[in-house]
Amino acid sequence: VNHVVVVGAGLAGLRTVEALRGRGFDGRITLMGEERHRPYDRPPLSKAVLKGDADTSFVDTDLDALEVDFWPGVSAKSLRAGVVETTEGELGYDGLVIATGAEPIRLPGDGLQHVLRTLDDAHELRAVLVPGARVAIIGAGWIGAEVATAARRAGCEVTVIESAPAPLTTAVGAEIGARTVPWYDGIDLRLGAMVDAVDEGGVRLVGGEFVEAHVVVTGIGVRPAVGWLADADIDLHNGVVTDEHLRASLPGTVAVGDCAAWWSRRWGTRLRVEHWDTALNAPDVAAATLLGEEAVYDPVPYFWSEQFGHMIQYAGHHPAGERLVHRGEPEGKWSAVWLTADDTLAAVLAVDRPRDLVQGRRIIDAGHRLDAERLVDPQVPLRDC
Ligand code: FAD
Repeated sequence: VNHVVVVGAGLAGLRTVEALRGRGFDGRITLMGEERHRPYDRPPLSKAVLKGDADTSFVDTDLDALEVDFWPGVSAKSLRAGVVETTEGELGYDGLVIATGAEPIRLPGDGLQHVLRTLDDAHELRAVLVPGARVAIIGAGWIGAEVATAARRAGCEVTVIESAPAPLTTAVGAEIGARTVPWYDGIDLRLGAMVDAVDEGGVRLVGGEFVEAHVVVTGIGVRPAVGWLADADIDLHNGVVTDEHLRASLPGTVAVGDCAAWWSRRWGTRLRVEHWDTALNAPDVAAATLLGEEAVYDPVPYFWSEQFGHMIQYAGHHPAGERLVHRGEPEGKWSAVWLTADDTLAAVLAVDRPRDLVQGRRIIDAGHRLDAERLVDPQVPLRDC
């Protein structure tokens, strides 16, 4: 391989550049990204940046030392074998990294909708979260809950509109989500409410009710940013389809991060995980694959969220579980574990209980079984269950 082109200058793209150099690749690397910024971390956008505790979250890296041609503000428009067409013309490659991440889904309507994906989005939103502002947040998922946390703290009047029966339902199910409802103290939480459209001055619900708002934030999820690959000869299905080596169907091509749907050996299914840990760690495998080395990406997926003064951490893949067991009462620090039919640990979700997370992640990795009777006692460490 002589020239590697990395499309997408987020964390996954940057880490792939670092991993290529770390593995001794001394050919040419071009890193292009649609945003004008150098690579930055997104988790702080809905936390420190939105609260005003930080203005930026740039990744600590030295692009000069990496000897990478960095092209900020340049988008890939289409792909054919060996050539990326960009907004600055055609660029040939013999190794390609697809790291274009994901983009927020918007709702119909003519009213202004804020989304929170980029540093610029975070600055725009922060500027309007002022005391007394009526803020309607659509979606009580990870982003919605974190934005609600910041908006309430900023002294806004907050309404959260969620179509499911509980927050976080899509991500971890209504039973877990219901435990977070009391956290929405002082917030008008509308559950089971469907949005029809975002209009001037607020949000129109199905059924006709109008929720007035100065600021509307849409946090209903993202989709993989693969529109530019629509006409390319590459398998797409819920993102870029890859094998367990992160190799895409087009020769010389790998995909990493939020846009990649990789084959998980561990779970025997295809996974696309929109979380920071994947963008951090998958690139080393992708770089190895591109350089013809043998490597497999087979993690126990992990993520966290900070909302309403609580730290939620999750590891595993709960759809593989059959039974949910709670540890601890919802008023305090608690966690929940999903067990498979034979009591193997499939996933753990910990609220302010970091030890359960750390131990649970190791147990999942090792494939150990747990004793459900002991599990329900939150005093018994997970590793002793
Ligand atoms: P991205 O970060 O999306 O980077 C992709 C880049 O590619 C973007 O800069 C995009 O502009 C660019 N691009 C797209 N299309 C093109 C194109 N055609 N040409 C050129 N460039 C293109 N995860 C957690 O685990 N915990 C958290 O607490 C957490 N908080 C989050 C908070 C926010 C507000 C957001 C948005 C995400 C959060 N995440 C969190 C998720 C995590 O940040 C993502 O999983 C991670 O950023 C994915 O990295 P990526 O490099 O794959 O994609």
